[in-house]
Amino acid sequence: MTERGNDRQPISRRAALTGTALALGAATAATVVRPAAAQAKISQAVAKYQATPSGSDRCEICNNFQPPNACKFVQGEISPKGWCQLFSAKSPA
Ligand code: SF4
Repeated sequence: MTERGNDRQPISRRAALTGTALALGAATAATVVRPAAAQAKISQAVAKYQATPSGSDRCEICNNFQPPNACKFVQGEISPKGWCQLFSAKSPA
């Protein structure tokens, strides 16, 4: 090896370590962004929301209902008497 060749090795290691640090930073940033994306709500049309109950199933007895008029997963104003395909009945208390 030449002296010049020996000089390159520490630089390469530093570059590799810097690259690893950047990759870890990017992975951390992606992890921070994911929860915000996961909280995006879908439209009422996609959920097939309706302002009337489906039989006895209705928003006010759904796990996803957020009183007085919102839903964890569906956008916009939600009627307690409404319903959508994401309905999930609350278990009896
Ligand atoms: S029935 Fe649908 S819109 Fe109503 S609270 Fe449940 S998930 Fe939300």
